[in-house]
Amino acid sequence: MDMQQGTIVVVEDDHNIADLLELYLRREGYRVVQAETGEDGLAAVHDQRPRLVVLDIGLPGGVDGLEVCRRLRSTTDVPVIMLTARDEEVDRVLGLELGADDYVTKPFSPREVVARVKAILRRAEGSGREPADVIAIGTVEVDAARREARVAGRPIALATREFDLLRYLAENRGLALSRQQLLDGVWGPGWYGDERTVDVHVRQLRKKLGDGLPLATVWGVGYRLD
Ligand code: CA
Repeated sequence: MDMQQGTIVVVEDDHNIADLLELYLRREGYRVVQAETGEDGLAAVHDQRPRLVVLDIGLPGGVDGLEVCRRLRSTTDVPVIMLTARDEEVDRVLGLELGADDYVTKPFSPREVVARVKAILRRAEGSGREPADVIAIGTVEVDAARREARVAGRPIALATREFDLLRYLAENRGLALSRQQLLDGVWGPGWYGDERTVDVHVRQLRKKLGDGLPLATVWGVGYRLD
């Protein structure tokens, strides 16, 4: 088995869930480091430099998963998959706004989590191999090679999916794209999340990139980058 898949930090206080995830991820060749609290999770990410973090929202102690995500985003763009309790819509939306890349709702199958992990890492790697390509939209630059967005030359920190969405819109500039087209194009056809995920990410892009981004809402359809 290929054991060069890199490290994944699993932050989850429920040992049964953490052990199950570790078992399945190890089978795929990942090295897994577990953390039971938010503080330990942050320390593990700092020490281990993982390729991805699986992060439960409900954690004991003063630092829950949402706070961990918030703190991670101020220092790193490591992909984050959040584990949320069933029907915790608020947590899901908040998690995405805080820069989580994806979420999985409990109860989940470990296979589903592994599939999400692989999809996110594949996307991150795939884009790294593409040739240098900078799309300029007014004062906003989308740099695919560096996976960096800049406003007036200043880099703006975007979550993985936020960048992917911006890039997809930039590559399809002038076209009105439906939320479903954006889900298929950015999250992949196998992703079965809800269309509001697109709205959450659009809101983040507008907030982070400001008025320099000519991103129009097309009523009854979706969005268009002008
Ligand atoms: Ca928990």
